[in-house]
Amino acid sequence: MNQLVYNKANSIQEIRGIKDKKQIILDYLKKYKNKIEKLSVNDPFRKAISDLFGDNKELSKEACFELRDHVIEEMSRLDPSCYERYIRYRYAYEIFPITHQVDEFPPLVQIEPTSVCNYRCVFCYQTDTRLSNKKNGHMGSMNLDTFKLMIDQLEGNIEGITLASRGEPLVNKSLPEMLSYMSGKFLATKINTNASLLNEKMSHAILEADLQTLVFSADAADELLYSQLRVNGKFDRVAKNVEQFHNIKEKHYTKSKLITRVSGVKVKTEQDIGEMEQFWTRYVDQVAFVDYNPWENVYDADKKNILAPCSDLWRRLFIWWDGKVAPCDVDYLTTLTNETIKDYTISEIWNGENYNNLREKHLSGARQKIEPCSRCVVV
Ligand code: SF4
Repeated sequence: MNQLVYNKANSIQEIRGIKDKKQIILDYLKKYKNKIEKLSVNDPFRKAISDLFGDNKELSKEACFELRDHVIEEMSRLDPSCYERYIRYRYAYEIFPITHQVDEFPPLVQIEPTSVCNYRCVFCYQTDTRLSNKKNGHMGSMNLDTFKLMIDQLEGNIEGITLASRGEPLVNKSLPEMLSYMSGKFLATKINTNASLLNEKMSHAILEADLQTLVFSADAADELLYSQLRVNGKFDRVAKNVEQFHNIKEKHYTKSKLITRVSGVKVKTEQDIGEMEQFWTRYVDQVAFVDYNPWENVYDADKKNILAPCSDLWRRLFIWWDGKVAPCDVDYLTTLTNETIKDYTISEIWNGENYNNLREKHLSGARQKIEPCSRCVVV
C-alpha cells in the first residue's frame, strides 16, 4: 500500500513508490504538447501542459503547475480519457489562488450535508456553543432537493466536490441518495468522516457510488490519545468501523478505484506518524497529518499581522446545509457573506459583488479591516 509521509518542514505529503505512475501519466500527456497551440493562451489545460513540459522561466516556482504525489495517485485511478478534464480542475485549484484568476465557477465546492456533529474535538469550532447550540439556528441537515439543485448547477462545470464542512456528514440519513445522485458526474469527489457512524449500509452506499477519496479523520493510534483529542469519540469503535469498511471493499468491490486515507490534525507532540502508519495502513491506502489551524474560535482570537490574500477566495466555496454560502469554514458563523443558493446561482455568488469586494480588499492589503480575516491564519 502507498503511504503518505508527513514532512514537518513544509507539510508537503509524499507518497512512496509513485514514480512509475507519474511516468506513465507524463508519457500519456506528452501527446498534447503539439495540440495545445489551438487553445487560448489563458486556457488552464494549455498552461498546465506548458508548465509540465515547457520552459517557463518567467514563472515563479510557486505558480508553476506540477503533478504532486497525491494528484498522481488520483489520476492513476482515472481513465486517461478524463485527464484533460482533471488537469483543468487541478490547475485552477492550485494556481488560480496564486494568479488570482476567477472563473465562472469555483474550482472546488465544499458542501456540508449537515452541520451537526456527534464529536466535540478540542481543535474544532463545534466546541463553540454559538455554533453548536441548537437555539442559535446554525444546526441542521441538508435536504435532498437542495442538494440536487446544487449538483444540477455544478455538473459539467466543476470537478471538485467535497462533502464535509462543519458537521459529520454521516449524520445525514440522506447521504446514500446524495452519493447516488452525484455519482459519475465529477472527477474529484471526497468525503471526510470521523467514521463513528460508518455502518455496513453506509459502507456499501459509499462503495457503490463513484467517490474518489474517503478520508477517515483520526489523529492517533491508541484510545488514550484519541479520546483526548476527539472528545465523545471511541477509538475502538472507529477502528472497527474502518476495518469493516476495508473488509467490505476487499470482498465485494475488488474493482473499486476509491482512495482511502486516515488523516489526523497534528496538535500534540505525542502524535507520531510512524505509530499512525503502523496501525492504520492495514486498513487504508494512505496515512497523513495536516497542520493544525486554530479553527475553534477565530472571532475571539488575537489579531494577526498577515497581509497576504487568502487562497480560499479563489480556490473554493462552501455551501452550508440550508443553502447559505460562505468563503471558508473558518468563518463558521457566516459573518462574511449573506447569500444563499435559494436566491442566486452558485456562479452568480462566486462572481458577485460581495465576493469581489472581499477579493479586492484582500488584494489591496486591507485584510486587516475585515473580520474575522484579520484574526485568521489562512493565506
Ligand atoms: S482569511 Fe480566513 S476568515 Fe477570511 S476568508 Fe480566508 S479563511 Fe476565511
